[in-house]
Amino acid sequence: MASRKGLTIVYTGNGKGKTSAALGAAMRALGHGWRVLIIQFFKGDWPVVYGELELAKRLHPQFEVLQLGRGFVKIMGDKKPFEEHVEAAQAALNLTRERMLSGNYDLIILDEVIYALGYLDFKLIDLKDVLQIIREKPPQMHLILTGRNAPAEIIEAADLVTEMMEIKHPMKKGIPAQQGIDY
Ligand code: ATP
Ligand code: MG
Repeated sequence: MASRKGLTIVYTGNGKGKTSAALGAAMRALGHGWRVLIIQFFKGDWPVVYGELELAKRLHPQFEVLQLGRGFVKIMGDKKPFEEHVEAAQAALNLTRERMLSGNYDLIILDEVIYALGYLDFKLIDLKDVLQIIREKPPQMHLILTGRNAPAEIIEAADLVTEMMEIKHPMKKGIPAQQGIDY
């Protein structure tokens, strides 16, 4: 379609809804018969079953979800060597570049990639590498990045940026993550 312009979209902020918004966009894209790839930068070593991953098994190969992270970094009892997290995030970035340049996808979602740029006291990947991915994006392909605290350079490079703002979150009342809503 002549008018199609692949967008770079960022969902950031401290309120819930960043990954959920990206999954909503994925659902629309899938409905149009598009090919969608989600690369998750932290998820991958947690003992929960993600709904998106289960759906991807049913919709393969139109919809793929790759959980390439090694789980929580330095929190929630993480005992893995820090290098292991860095290597996993680097591998996820390399795979992103390779898949993106294959031209096989209409929408690629880099879930939580913005956390990997630096969060609390860790940094797994370089900002310049993510900016390069945005620059090299095929013109028709849409790219979504999620994660709190998007740096100014990412905001600048994006076409659409939405900040989720927390007004209330059940976690504050001690209500744990809910299947179908949080994972
Ligand atoms: P979701 O995946 O539910 O759309 P998110 O992508 O906006 O949330 P992340 O920052 O990626 O949120 O957080 C990952 C997990 O932390 C999710 O399970 C989410 O429900 C939970 N979470 C998100 N926002 C908050 C918050 N403000 N307080 C507590 N927990 C949160
Ligand atoms: Mg998220």
